[in-house]
Amino acid sequence: MNFIETRGNDGSRPAKVTFSDAILNPLASFGGLYVPRDLPYLGEKFLQAHKDSSFKKIAKSILDEYQIDIDDQVIEEAISLYDSFDDPNCPVPLVKLNDNQFVSELYHGPTRAFKDMALQPFGKILSSLAKSRNEKYLILAATSGDTGPATLETFKGDKNVFVTCLYPVGGTSDVQRLQMVTEDANNLCVVGINGAFDDAQSALKTLLSSDAFQKKLSKKGIKLSAANSVNFGRIIFQLIYHVYSYLQLVRDGEISLGGKIYINVPSGNFGNALGGYYAMKMGLPIEKILISSNKNNVLTDLIKNGKYDLTSREVISTSTPAMDILKSSNVERVLYDLFGQDRTRQLMEKLDSIGKYELSSNELKKLQEIFAADFATDQQVKEHIQVTYKDGYLIDPHTATCMQTEITSRKKDYPSIIYSTAEWTKFSKTIVNALSDETISSDQEAVNLISSLTNYQVPKQILDLFQKQQKQRSIIDKNEIEQKILAFIETKL
Ligand SMILES: *Cc1c(COP(=O)(O)O)cnc(C)c1O
Repeated sequence: MNFIETRGNDGSRPAKVTFSDAILNPLASFGGLYVPRDLPYLGEKFLQAHKDSSFKKIAKSILDEYQIDIDDQVIEEAISLYDSFDDPNCPVPLVKLNDNQFVSELYHGPTRAFKDMALQPFGKILSSLAKSRNEKYLILAATSGDTGPATLETFKGDKNVFVTCLYPVGGTSDVQRLQMVTEDANNLCVVGINGAFDDAQSALKTLLSSDAFQKKLSKKGIKLSAANSVNFGRIIFQLIYHVYSYLQLVRDGEISLGGKIYINVPSGNFGNALGGYYAMKMGLPIEKILISSNKNNVLTDLIKNGKYDLTSREVISTSTPAMDILKSSNVERVLYDLFGQDRTRQLMEKLDSIGKYELSSNELKKLQEIFAADFATDQQVKEHIQVTYKDGYLIDPHTATCMQTEITSRKKDYPSIIYSTAEWTKFSKTIVNALSDETISSDQEAVNLISSLTNYQVPKQILDLFQKQQKQRSIIDKNEIEQKILAFIETKL
């Protein structure tokens, strides 16, 4: 399978690349992204054949269809990392909420958020590529809370991959911060930044595109890469659970094979939703993909009105921080798929230069055939947590945004799968407040209180955190980032 570029080719890069090149060097011409040249079509035959297959079997078969240039043995090892999830036989449980509503729980991995679904196997593939090419890589990550822990977890102890992870001081939950600062593997460097997530993110983007910085690293024999959610190596692992969850509905007798469903995704950078879109294009019978957001509702606007407009917006802090995003990077891949390279380049260049673009009415119609969208305020999130818990099920704030879209955007009587992206333990203060109206300032107290109120158990991974020692103590200003990274690398040579 070859990969091409969303904004066309600039003549200085190869016109098509392999999967491994696309994941090691994810930056494409004109600031675009890599996409598969053709998506494999699975269709009903594949679904029929895999009706009773395990998660890992389905994963392997989908990856086979993509014919990526990765050794079978490495793929097997990557997929076997799902064995470390709570239930190795079923890493993604599907829970029935009521007759026509199901939750696919994507958070049963080591860091209790859905980022593990992709970063666990992706990390394995990247590490083994680095090893087989005898190269050393530095991964730069900026996190608002969930990407950081999952990136550190997947690369810890690796010999060929170093990770520097930047988080905004005060901008994450205690649990998320502890997951990072208690890491002690010596290939990892975790740094708090005085500032907001956007400051960390833009500092990192500047470094990633700086030739001078890359030269300094390459003198030390180190290449730069990124594990962020635009990397196709993550997207490919976000297709699988859409197919698996659909087949679970069939196995449970909730639908017959070929029956349509809605999927409902709490969206930030649109990686999870893009996985659903690709699954749909590959033949999964999806009626519509519901895109759920918080008050940073650029995606709602795009899908309802055809307008992507940043000019009058600033990022708002909400109780769903993983979705406090205005530039939703993976939307570009959908634009490419629907409207082609030239139009995508035109739209994205408008967004870069004047901060907005608008689709034509025909284009909007095409988009609305596939997606519907809405958003929830913090108050609505709180109410959805309360109401859903009254029905006996505890959801995290991000998952709660889907409950709003369920009400406003499902037009037909098909079953819906809601994707749950985090365990309640990661956002416990918001949940305590929803369940009891109390305001608690420590996550440790909050998780214990919820556990006693609800009979939900706190998993060992979280309990252990509160006992671990803090190993990573650096807190710096954003203008010190480059120096800090170079000093860290120096000690590893
Ligand atoms: C990352 C994340 C999201 C958003 O996922 P995207 O693929 O970026 O759209 C939603 N919820 C949680 C808890 C997350 O960590």
